[in-house]
Amino acid sequence: MSNESSKTLENQNQEPKSEISEDTLTEVREMFSALVKLAANADQSIQFPTPEEIVSTNHYIILADDQLQEKYRSLCSLDTAESVGGFLDTQTGDVYIAKSHKDNPHVILHESVHRSQWLFTNHQGKNLVTSFTGQLAKQYGFELQNQGVIDLNKGYLSCIADKKERSELLSFFNPILVKQSSEVLEGLTEYATQAGLATAAKENANDIWVAYLLKVLKVDKLQRLLMQGERLTQSQAQESILAAALTGEISKLLPYYGGSFLQIPSH
Ligand SMILES: [Zn+2]
Repeated sequence: MSNESSKTLENQNQEPKSEISEDTLTEVREMFSALVKLAANADQSIQFPTPEEIVSTNHYIILADDQLQEKYRSLCSLDTAESVGGFLDTQTGDVYIAKSHKDNPHVILHESVHRSQWLFTNHQGKNLVTSFTGQLAKQYGFELQNQGVIDLNKGYLSCIADKKERSELLSFFNPILVKQSSEVLEGLTEYATQAGLATAAKENANDIWVAYLLKVLKVDKLQRLLMQGERLTQSQAQESILAAALTGEISKLLPYYGGSFLQIPSH
């Protein structure tokens, strides 16, 4: 083997763009279709991305486990040591899956729900992260500027902006908002993933990861509040939540999150 070809091999090993098995792709597309069908009951006018657009091998990149963690940490704005099975690159819409999870329908479906959110907002010329954080911010009387930071001239922050240094306020509120936004998005995404796995009778095949447990419980609580507040059946409330999870459009749900999501810590 010449030096050149071994080098090429080495490069391929660093970033292999290998495919997920046909069986897994079919399985995930079927679960995704089932989720779209349920979500469409909540709002017929929503144009959900198609399963083929979502679960497309051109946008699913398999990386060796350690390389995946490294890439995740380099792209993720949150300071985290948590280990992930896959993630969505919110700049490109590409999904990265760890080699050890390449045929894990749970991980691939979860990332497919994220890709659905990304495609839906992208089709509308919006950025998933700022659009999602912006919706949450609005609920708390904040407006986001273009760069995704809180505008201190809007909402109740304008009343207190004089009393504190503006930069201090920004550095206090923005990380809270970003963190809470990520928690809400992850809760909805994993809730939808569980619902998708259940349509294929796979709910026991992949136990929920501990990191998602509390976030999904909060969505279960939201579902109960939605049933009471909007006089919906359990299925109707589930369908509304799924529509929000697949699109990243959560304005209709926000009044029911109450204060339980965006709690500003006292320390
Ligand atoms: Zn996720």
